[in-house]
Amino acid sequence: MTHFKEEQTLVLIKGDGVQRGLVGEIIRRFERVSLKIKAMKMVWPSDEIVNRHYDPANTEWLEDVGNKALKGYEKKGIKVDKTPLEIGKHVQENLLSFLAAGPVVAIVLQGAHAAELVRKLVGSTDPLSAAPGTIRGDFALDSYYMSDADDRAIRNLIHASGNAEEAKREIEIWFDESELHKYTLPYDEVVYDKNWEKKQALLNE
Ligand code: ADP
Ligand code: MG
Repeated sequence: MTHFKEEQTLVLIKGDGVQRGLVGEIIRRFERVSLKIKAMKMVWPSDEIVNRHYDPANTEWLEDVGNKALKGYEKKGIKVDKTPLEIGKHVQENLLSFLAAGPVVAIVLQGAHAAELVRKLVGSTDPLSAAPGTIRGDFALDSYYMSDADDRAIRNLIHASGNAEEAKREIEIWFDESELHKYTLPYDEVVYDKNWEKKQALLNE
């Protein structure tokens, strides 16, 4: 079994994040929680890579996206005569043009609970409802309402893997094994070493 601290997750700073000059601000939030940057690069994504990442054949994900949108409509009291799958497919097409429109920054982060922790820091999909303190809540004002009216993908700055398993599949799409670097961070000891207290006691003997 891999240790907790080996968990990895994929983050993409989407085109809106790059072109609003938020790359540093976003990375800072992951660094300061003590996640390790395992890999990072700027990529102008091809349609092929976006279709592998947001797979139009993954009906489960498409339905999930569609159901989330339908819930949003329901909240507003709007009746929509489309299936979740139809909505999901349309969102996937809009995502393709969004992601392929400009360079993105792809990052692999590593650390305990990496996927869950990053999702927490990123906040919910709809920036309008994302909690303050989260990246989407603090730096974006887009909403399902506005993106729907304009028939485009929600500009919410970031993609983050849903869980560690999803992350494995996604990391393989964006990175070669050789691009994931092994190195140490001096603070790893106080974050993870179970003998840290004992070592401190020895220093003070
Ligand atoms: P998340 O990025 O929070 O994991 P999803 O995986 O459900 O969200 O959707 C992927 C991306 O597709 C979202 O980040 C957003 O940019 C876009 N998106 C999702 N649902 C919609 C929608 N109903 N309308 C427009 N864009 C959407
Ligand atoms: Mg997702």
